[in-house]
Amino acid sequence: MRKNIVAGNWKMHTCKDEAILLASAVNKKVKEEVKNDNTGVVIAPPFIHLSLISQVVDTERICIAAQNCASEPKGAFTGEISARMLQSYGVKAVILGHSERRAYYGETDETLTKKVNLVLENNMRPIFCCGEKLEERESNNHFEVVKRQIENVVFKLSKDNFEKVIIAYEPVWAIGTGKTASADQAQEMHEFIRKLIKEKFGSEIAENTTILYGGSCKPSNAQELFSKPDVDGGLIGGASLNAEDFTAIINSFEK
Ligand code: PEP
Repeated sequence: MRKNIVAGNWKMHTCKDEAILLASAVNKKVKEEVKNDNTGVVIAPPFIHLSLISQVVDTERICIAAQNCASEPKGAFTGEISARMLQSYGVKAVILGHSERRAYYGETDETLTKKVNLVLENNMRPIFCCGEKLEERESNNHFEVVKRQIENVVFKLSKDNFEKVIIAYEPVWAIGTGKTASADQAQEMHEFIRKLIKEKFGSEIAENTTILYGGSCKPSNAQELFSKPDVDGGLIGGASLNAEDFTAIINSFEK
């Protein structure tokens, strides 16, 4: 059976002391207030804090993820961080294909395919983001866009490798805007994604794949979103910067 997961994407927030404070608060709250051990908790701080934060939190309970990695394994790529480096610091998962990376850093399906493969080769799990822009939803192309994003990257993987992928559906119009997809809109897309996985890899893998929702998820809407049968948790931006809100979101599952 698939696992519920709540992952916090800190983006380019927190200086050193703030990162330690936030990670310590999340660690304490998860330990004291999260009763359901089956809910996976992930935090993705900026690269520079990864080593520090893995010493601050209980990494048996809270999985440390990175927000990106290089598309090349090593070499003369000034300023880049390789998947192998991340793995050597105990990082267990890497967010790939976030809409901000696609929009501001020109990440293409081709770059993402390389990154996904490097993450898997280094025994980490890709958290693969997909999602349509507002105009794509308004022109009723959202299913087609998400299908293409998934088919062009993670459907190129072998069955064994695909099983390690976590999908995050993040409608671009809902990220950081305060505008959340309705629980029905999220369910509709998650169900569609699971159907695509079933057609490609079979029903067992489809049933076992964790599909997260991302886009202005907060304590006030998490419960409704997570109550939907195909919504297995969330990728949380803004609300993950507040330990209380993040923990409340983690505790929003009924299932
Ligand atoms: C995100 O960046 O992945 C995200 C979902 O952000 P927010 O929760 O702030 O909309």
